[in-house]
Amino acid sequence: MAESAAADPANLADLAARVRAIRARVAMAAERAGRAPDDVLVVAVSKTVDADHVRGVYELGLKTFGENRVQEARGKIAALPLPLIAWELIGHLQSNKVARAATLFARVQSVDSLALAEALSRRAGEAGRVLPILLEINVAGEASKSGLAPDDLPDVARAVAALPHLRPDGLMTVAPIAADPETVRPVFRRLRELRDRLRDAVSGPSWPHLSMGMTDDFEVAIAEGATIVRIGRAIFGARPPTMT
Ligand SMILES: *Cc1c(COP(=O)(O)O)cnc(C)c1O
Repeated sequence: MAESAAADPANLADLAARVRAIRARVAMAAERAGRAPDDVLVVAVSKTVDADHVRGVYELGLKTFGENRVQEARGKIAALPLPLIAWELIGHLQSNKVARAATLFARVQSVDSLALAEALSRRAGEAGRVLPILLEINVAGEASKSGLAPDDLPDVARAVAALPHLRPDGLMTVAPIAADPETVRPVFRRLRELRDRLRDAVSGPSWPHLSMGMTDDFEVAIAEGATIVRIGRAIFGARPPTMT
């Protein structure tokens, strides 16, 4: 996080235009799919972005921010004690950061193993809370990505639903990078089908949320049923090249 000066006015005007454009595109995509714009939560992905720019976007009305590293998130969360702000973890969580994550985040979207779910439940319990989570699925089976294999999902979901201090909210996926977002439509459709099957197979939670879609493909994801889109670059601008 840069110790930068306050976000300059020109930059805030850029942010405002980008937030307005994203809202319009999300609303149009929702309407095309016969859904209400409010059905889709925009998580502003603020990894590598400094606290001033996060505050700027918060003041423009987006209140939920996504971070992929616990350490980086911790500094920003401390710097921004804003009443309605909510932070969600969207990156792989290492076991030595579980205790911290269980108290810092409003939701952990990147639960990719039963062992991690069990550890989070235990730590959330120690902190006296019930932690909302999503199960991350590696739909396309990419070796470079974390996430549960679709075949393992039913058993893991059943076990997770029985944990006392987690609230399973749904499923999350990161689609492969593709030049044409239509290429990854089957990935989003598959996540929705996996969720629909879970609803029948695992009693209890209704797994309401599908977190899928980023800057390059969120409109296709909304068409396939996304209720949460995670958008970084289209809101904050390009990140430094090494920070994906
Ligand atoms: C970085 C990141 C995003 C946002 O990506 P953009 O292409 O900048 O919109 C979404 N989800 C996850 C898991 C990420 O790591």
